[in-house]
Parts: sequence; structure tokens; C-alpha cells
Amino acid sequence: MTSIQHLKGVGPKRAELFARLGVETVQDLLFYFPRKWEDRRPGAKKEHLPYVEDAPVLKGRIKKVRDLYTAGGLRIFKVFLETAAGEAEASFFKRHNPRFDVFALLRKDLTAGRTVWITGTPEDPLFVSRVRAEEYYPDDARTLKLHAGRLVPVYPLTEGLAPKFMREAVFAAVAEGAAGVPDFLPPALAARRGLLARDLAARAIHFPENNFELTGARRRFIYEELLLLALAWAIKRRQTRSVQKGFTCEIKKTLLTPFRENLGFCFTGAQAHAINEIFSDMQAPVPMARLLEGDVGSGKTVVALSAMLLAAENGGQSVFAAPTEILAEQHFLTFERFLGGLGVRYALLTGRVAAARKKEILKAVAAGEIDILIGTHSVIGPEVKFKNLRLAVIDEQHRFGVRQRAALRAKGERADMLIMTATPIPRTLFLALYGDLDLSAIKELPPGRRPVRTAEATEEVALLAATEEAAKGRQVYIVYPVIEATLAADMKSVKAEFERLRAFFKGRRVEMLHGRMPGTLKKRVMEDFAAGRIDILVATQVIEVGIDVPNATLMVINNAERFGLASLHQLRGRVGRGRWDSRCLLVAHARTGDSAERLRAMTECSSGFELSEKDVYIRGAGEILGVRQHGDMDLKIADMSRDKDILAEVMEDREALLAGDPDLLKPENSRLRLKLRSLYATRWNLIDLS
Ligand code: ADP
Ligand code: MG
Repeated sequence: MTSIQHLKGVGPKRAELFARLGVETVQDLLFYFPRKWEDRRPGAKKEHLPYVEDAPVLKGRIKKVRDLYTAGGLRIFKVFLETAAGEAEASFFKRHNPRFDVFALLRKDLTAGRTVWITGTPEDPLFVSRVRAEEYYPDDARTLKLHAGRLVPVYPLTEGLAPKFMREAVFAAVAEGAAGVPDFLPPALAARRGLLARDLAARAIHFPENNFELTGARRRFIYEELLLLALAWAIKRRQTRSVQKGFTCEIKKTLLTPFRENLGFCFTGAQAHAINEIFSDMQAPVPMARLLEGDVGSGKTVVALSAMLLAAENGGQSVFAAPTEILAEQHFLTFERFLGGLGVRYALLTGRVAAARKKEILKAVAAGEIDILIGTHSVIGPEVKFKNLRLAVIDEQHRFGVRQRAALRAKGERADMLIMTATPIPRTLFLALYGDLDLSAIKELPPGRRPVRTAEATEEVALLAATEEAAKGRQVYIVYPVIEATLAADMKSVKAEFERLRAFFKGRRVEMLHGRMPGTLKKRVMEDFAAGRIDILVATQVIEVGIDVPNATLMVINNAERFGLASLHQLRGRVGRGRWDSRCLLVAHARTGDSAERLRAMTECSSGFELSEKDVYIRGAGEILGVRQHGDMDLKIADMSRDKDILAEVMEDREALLAGDPDLLKPENSRLRLKLRSLYATRWNLIDLS
């Protein structure tokens, strides 16, 4: 590996900036992929590729330049050009500085008579011959290789690294390293899928000669990224199933029977089915690794409780991890309701538990005196030691990263693991993301649930509806996408709207809830809302998961166009939990991308499983599932929602590969095995590929 400082122009200072982007070696830079490409070929016939932007660029001979001052202390350097298409004008803007000439360099580089390239944004979309200039380049061979007159890469940057410098550095890295980039895909596979050779792709991904090359290079890297990920999960899955947990559960019914009798309702068929699947895993000698998918309100909690009671019947401990303190506390209350009188010992451990009490709980857990420990992420922290952990349940998986999952697994050594999510995902995506898990799905809601009526509405209509509900004694959620007001004028914020709504709903109790409030305050607001002491809760997405307040009958989502379909559905799931008709009103403040399609899907489908079949659902799901935020998957170029065709090919190829060579031991697969090991074995400690 060659340090990045080896490249011309990169000293210790710049190396530090590169490190911020995760680039430490020349090889890293080679695989630092562009965010998009700009088509800087003037007059070229533009083909529409979604990742290529048509960038206005002027090429011409400079006729004259003008240096102007404005009254506001702004200076403008105007360049008048003679281009193939006629006269053109580019303006550079800078703030005046009395101590030096801000345009000294421009004055030197851009003199009359020279031919130059200038990029920028048109001052008026109709007149591309007048631009606000951004970059300029001399008309020489180097410019044509790197910066203009071609498809040009645009990289994610950090303060201090200019686009031009970045492109130069990548160009040097390509010259140095692209030709020697080793391939690791079995040649037969690459040939069958028509993948571009890896060394070729390593150059073309940065400096493609044409759209065709660019498309090929992208496809190549997306394919290999997804294949590696999919293989890692499949291997992980097999390895999980090859260990013995050293104990099995037996259905004794000493706790399960009284639990069922106390329940007050019967399990739905889907719940019973899921419980059966979970119980047979727990009775088997290999550790359970199962995902339980169930729409909001489908009753996953009692399914998890059944599993924890089975563990308890067998003398084992369970841990139940929720994504937030509010949820952990709410679950604790639910458990109190269902476990009362069973003699099961359970405790709540969150960041808000007092130190002395916490110590007590930890001691009891270590001594095996607590059967079920409920908490937030803290329950998977290193200070929590179990005597005999047999089952770990993770609620609302999407807030948990793969790393946390692995940590929990490591803690329980060979404990059974049940992960629950209310965000159903399509099968291919499931296999790619959670290839190491089995799947149970609850596709049916408990009887008597009425679907939440969903409609688009104006803000006036929504506020009127809120007034009506509050007058009937019901409660209302009003959700905004952000906490603070931002520059984006079309984005409403909780803080800005809260005061206004308070005035609007005079006489009603209006409170606010968002993630940056202190924990104790959040808790109080949630409790007050649950107890009916608040009529209208103005909140961010913090209320997205789990919150269960049956008296809440109206959900108003502002800037609905900003939310992914999966989030919208989660939010909607906060209402319709009681005996009243409930509504979800979507207030769109602008139209963006595929928002119309998303909102229509919301008004047409009430089931999460149905929604998950929709194209527009997947991207939001990916965000919710943490594919991006946690960086777990470290996807650099692939996007599961966009690249689902390639993903389908990958899943097919993975099956074929592993069917013929489950440990990738054949000589033609050995480089693939080494690559996987270097990528995943060390970093996640997830797979063992010696
Ligand atoms: P989620 O799957 O969203 O976590 P919960 O477990 O919170 O759903 O269940 C939602 C509500 O439905 C709870 O109040 C729960 O007690 C109730 N519930 C669960 N199963 C049934 C059932 N089979 N019949 C009636 N009510 C049920
Ligand atoms: Mg739940």
C-alpha cells in the first residue's frame, strides 16, 4: 500500500484532509468513487443517464475582460468570449479585499487572445451563454484529459480539498495504480455477466471516454460490491448454523400456560405461526437467528414475550433491547401488565435508572436473579454480564446496526436471537441485507382493527381536523421533518411551528417532543401524552416507532413529501390503536422527486407488506434499516433500491457459486475468498474464512 503522500502535491496537511474522507493510500483514492459525473463536452449529444449531469461549459477565445465593483463591496471579473456557438460571457464573483487584489490570478491567467474553458451555472437557464463562473482551465491536452471537453468526475469533498485538486490527485492515482488492480471475480462469472475488466473499470469509473464505458464501470463495481456483501451474509449464516449452543429449550408450559390464560385475547393465526417457528428454533441445538417482521400493531411484543417465557421456563435469562428509552419504558409497562402474577423476575435498565439501582440490577443479572432484562442499547454494553443468557430480543431492528447485533451475539455467545421490525422488506432485499437470518412474518392484524383513513390535505384542513378531534377528547400528533428552522424555506420545523400552533389551539394543551430535548423532559411529555394530559403533540419523527396511545386518533404529517414511504407508514401506525376511527393526513408543502407517487401509495395501501412491494418504498426502507447511517454495509457505490436488477443477478450468482463450492475452496474462487476475508472477517469479525 502506497501512502497518499506519495502523490505529487499531497503533503502531510492534505493527507490529513484525505484521511477525513477515509483515504489513506493511493489504492484508497483509486476506489474513492465519484458522486456523479458532469458532461462537459460542449455541444455533445447528451444521452440521459441518471448519474451524469449536463454541465454548461464554455470554450472560447477571450476577447476582453472587465473588472467591476458593485456598491455592496462585491467584485466581478467578467470574461467575454468568442465561442463556436457565438458570443458568451462568464462572471467570477468575489468579495472585495482592501489588502490584496482578489482577482490577481484571474487577471494573469485570463488575458485577451487566450483560448480557455470555463464551467459554471447559467445566469438564466434560457441563456447558457451567460454563466456565473466556477472553474476555468487553459485549453491544453491536460485539461482535455481531466477537467473539460469530456465526462468529468465529481467527488464528495471536504473543506480544503478543491474539486480541481481532487481530480488531479485521482488522475495521478489512476495513472499509478489502475493498470495493476487485481481482479478477484472468477473469470467465468465475470464473462457470463459481461462485466468490464477490473483494471479497465478502475480507470473508467473516474475518467470514462464515453457513456458506454462509464455505464460498464459502474455496473462492474456495483456488482462486485453487492456480491461480496451477499456472500458474506450467506457464509455467516452457514457458520451460525454450524455451532452448537450447548442447550435446548423444552416446552414445559409452567409459565406459558398461565401467560396465555392471562392475556385477555387469543393469538392470531399469524402470531401462533411465528411462535411455532421461534419455539422450534429454540428447541433445536443451533442458535436461533430470526427476524420477525410484522406490521405496526400486529402484536410482535407478545410473540417475543412468549419466547422469553420459554427461555425462563428452562432456567434461562433473556434480554429485550429497545431503540429508545421511551420505548424501553413503555415495554416495561406492557410487561408488567402481562407478566403480573407469573413470578417472572424482570427489570428495566436505561440511562435514566439511578446509579445505585443500576448497580443492584447488574448484580442481580450477573447472579441469575433476573429472568428478563429490558433496556436500551445499554443492555448490550460491556458492563452488563449475564449468568445464563439464552435469548436476546431486539425490538425495531432498524435502529440497531449490524455491529450492535454482532456485539449482542458475542455477548450471549451462543444465545438465541430474535430481531423484530415493523418495516417489511422485499425478499431479495431481505436476503441481501439480512442473509444470515431466518424470517417469520406476521401479515395479519388482531381482529377488530380499523384501517387508518389516509388522505392528502392542506394545512388548514389538517388543523381543522385536529381541532375537531381535540374537541371530542381525542389526541393528535402533528409531525414536522426537522427540529430547528433551516435555510430550506419549504421545510417546516417543530420549534418554529410549536409557538404558532400553541396560539392557534388556544385553550388546548399543546406540547412539543423532539430528539434534542433532555431525557427527563422527553419522558415527562410522553407520559403526559399517554395519560391524556396533552391534547396535541407537536413532534419530529421521534414518535415513529412503538409509541402506543390508543386515544390518539389523528396523525398530521407536515412536509410529507420529505419522508420515505416506510417512515410515513411507521408514523401512521401511531394512530388507529383504539376503538375510534382514525385518520392520517399528509400535508405536502412542495413536490419533490417521486413524492407524488409515495403519497398516492400511502392513500391507497394500508398494509406495510403491500407498501413494501412498491418501488418508492425501498429507498426509505433502506434509510430506516440503517443501510446508510450506520455505514454497516459500507456500500460505496451500490444502492439497494436503485440497483435492484443487479442485486437480483447477484443473488442468483451467489446461490450458484456457493452450491458448487460452499467454502470457496476451488482454485478459481480463491481470490474471491481472500477478498472476502480481508473485507469482512477482520472488520466485523463476522465471518471466519481461514
Ligand atoms: P407491534 O407489532 O407494533 O409491536 P404490539 O405488540 O405493540 O404491536 O401490539 C399492539 C397492540 O395489540 C397491543 O396493545 C397488544 O396488546 C395488542 N394485541 C397483540 N396481539 C393481539 C391479539 N392477538 N388480539 C388482540 N390484541 C392484540
Ligand atoms: Mg412494537
